[in-house]
This record gives sequence, structure tokens and C-alpha cells, in this order.
Amino acid sequence: MVSFSRDTDVGAWLLESRGCTESGGGAWSAGSGRNVVMVSFRRRRHPGHLQRRDRSIGGVSNPVMAVPVLVPTPRVPAPRRPVRAEPLQDIPTSGHKRVLVAAPRGYCAGVDRAVLAVQKALERFGAPVYVRKQIVHNVHVVTELEAAGAVFVDEVDEVPEGAHVVFSAHGVAPAVVQAAADRGLQAIDATCPLVTKVHREAVRFARGGREILLIGHARHEEIEGITGEAPEHVTVVDSPAAADTVQVRDPANVVWLSQTTLSVDETMQTVRRLRERFPLLADPPTDDICYATQNRQVAIKKVAADADLVIVVGSANSSNSMRLVEVARAGGARAAQRVDYADEIRQEWLDGVTTVGVTSGASVPEVLVREVLAQLAEAGYRDVEEVHTAQEDLVFALPKQLRDDADGVSGRGGRR
Ligand code: SF4
Repeated sequence: MVSFSRDTDVGAWLLESRGCTESGGGAWSAGSGRNVVMVSFRRRRHPGHLQRRDRSIGGVSNPVMAVPVLVPTPRVPAPRRPVRAEPLQDIPTSGHKRVLVAAPRGYCAGVDRAVLAVQKALERFGAPVYVRKQIVHNVHVVTELEAAGAVFVDEVDEVPEGAHVVFSAHGVAPAVVQAAADRGLQAIDATCPLVTKVHREAVRFARGGREILLIGHARHEEIEGITGEAPEHVTVVDSPAAADTVQVRDPANVVWLSQTTLSVDETMQTVRRLRERFPLLADPPTDDICYATQNRQVAIKKVAADADLVIVVGSANSSNSMRLVEVARAGGARAAQRVDYADEIRQEWLDGVTTVGVTSGASVPEVLVREVLAQLAEAGYRDVEEVHTAQEDLVFALPKQLRDDADGVSGRGGRR
């Protein structure tokens, strides 16, 4: 509950709060006389913020004047795991039950940096800190950050003027950066440096007059951000089949780039089909599919060859997690399933399964994998072996506003 008195009033400010307007489902009430307005916030994800507004409030034609006040973010409770109705049963199979855990798996350097950026921003500037889009595509990470005071919005025009806003790991188009500046926002760019690299490639090729065929998912934030660098030069190719129909202006002046989190094999298939139509198609200077995506796919391929079932921990909107499911199936696993939480593992998935493969997407904290292993152990899969295919030690520097030491690295590049 927040109150404003006429004594502290500073001018013709009216009251606005996301989640607290007539249409937003919040509640407000006028206090005695017109000296005080009291506001309560029902929608916990949307903290109140008061801004100048040019209309009446809830039918009150002459609402009281209010001072602009940032209302502290109401804390949401810690994320609640889904609860399994029945524990998994240890049902005998024809062979020795075991688990093969892929390594590398889980957090990559870009995700680690982006999540830490939000945590540091909360520490340094206090809640709320606004984040445009999900900072990374993982429901658990987002829910935990919300509980700590982050507020996720779709666009910067939802962020109160002057507030801090973090751009997600997937990157933003220049128009978004400009919109944030126009609004006077304190922007913190948590775009993964490997995504920024593709932005730069797009800018460079566009300046050179090239036509860019950008392989990726049209509505993914990363593709929207890269396309926004040079919309008149970029055409998105979202599948191998699309390579057969895409049109270009000058087949002799075309280059391809790609989203960082695609299936390596499918992307190469798309490129082959493009090159059949456009033999002069130029390659990007270096791989756009990032080291973390590639390493996780190589590791799960090796595991999948020996697994009856592969469980991928990751969210449904996580491109690299979904690709791991596809790669596991293509790599020989009899079945592959994605879960956000261990409690989503179904008993019937384990029917006749002796070897379970486990991996996790690049935005998944290790604690969620440990929970999967614990539940598999209950079902008799206690023999756990890690299958290593690469060593990762890359760490990215934090955005400059958040650095508190000389090198500014996150300093925690491992799994948690
Ligand atoms: S998956 Fe790759 S591109 Fe995406 S955040 Fe991680 S390192 Fe960066």
C-alpha cells in the first residue's frame, strides 16, 4: 500500500502503475477527501511506478495530485517446483541400469554473464531492475530473478523513464537501443558477445552492399536483433526447405550468416541447398553457431549412440535445448524428452530403458540436472558416468556498468 499526501505534492502528476490502472486488474481507492490516494498492487510481477499521465483515474475526473514515486518491487516467493504425484518406481529391466551424463552441458559463458549482470544490477541499483525479454530462455532462471526483484517486460516503453533496463543475452536491434535512450533509460547490455559478433558481421556485409541470407528462426529474439541491423539487406531462411524457395536480388553477391544456437547438421544442410541454387554464396568469416551450442551437440551425440532414452533439461523456448532433443534422436537414442524440472519425468518413459542419457541446454543451472539425477536414482539408475567431449573455460567480462574489478570477468564460469 502506498499513499501520497498533498503536502508532498510537486505538481500536476497523475498516477499510473502497470497492473494498477483500470484496465490492468489492480486496485486503487481514493482516501478521505482528495488528499490521499492509496494504491495496492495485486499483480506481483508488475511493481508500481508513478508517471505523468493525462487522464483521469478510474472515473475520478479530478484525481488528487501525486508525486512520482518508485514503488519497491513486491517480492515473489521462490519458484515452486512441480510436485510429482507418485514417486518414480524402480522397475527391473533386462540389463544394468545406468546414466550417461553429457559434458559439457548447462550454462555457457554468455548465459553466465547475462544472469550475473541482472544479479549485479539488483545488488548495485536495487529493485526493481527491468529486463527486456527473458534474460535467458529458462523458466527457472527467470522465476528466480523475478523473486529477487527483476521485472521482465516485452518492450522498453513498459519501463519507467530513467529506470535501469537490461538487454537480454539474445541481443537487440539498434532501434531498441535508440528507444531506450529516447526514454532516458539506463541501459545495460547483456547481449552475449558471440551474438554481438554476428551483429557486426551483418553490419559489415550490409555496408559492403551484400545481401545476407540469415539462417535461423524468424521470430527468435536473436534473429530479430540481427535483422534489425540492416533490414533491407537481410532475408531470414528458417529451414532447409526454405532454402529452395528464397529469392535474392543478385545471386553473385550473397553471403550467409546464422543464429548461434542452431543444429550444426541442419544448418549445413540448409547451406548446401542454398549453394546448389547460388553457387557464389559466400561463407561467414568464422562459425556463427557458437562453441557452447556445438560442444553440447557433440557431447549428446556421443551419449545418444548408447542411450535408450535421453532427457534434456531445458525450457521449450530455448533454441539450443530443443536442438539437443533433435540431435539426440538423430544420434541414435530410441527416445528423447525435454523437461524443465525433474518432476516432469514420466514413469512410462523408463519402460524397458537400461541406459538414460542426460544433458542440459546452455541456459540451465546445474541444480536442475542434479535433481533429475536424484529422481533417476530413485528409479534404480544409480550408476552415473560422465561422458566428456570438450573442456570449456571461456568467461566473458561483465557489462562495463557492473564491473567492480580490473578485468570485470564474472569469475564464476562453472556450473551451479
Ligand atoms: S549459447 Fe552461445 S551465443 Fe548463446 S549465450 Fe551461450 S555462448 Fe552466447
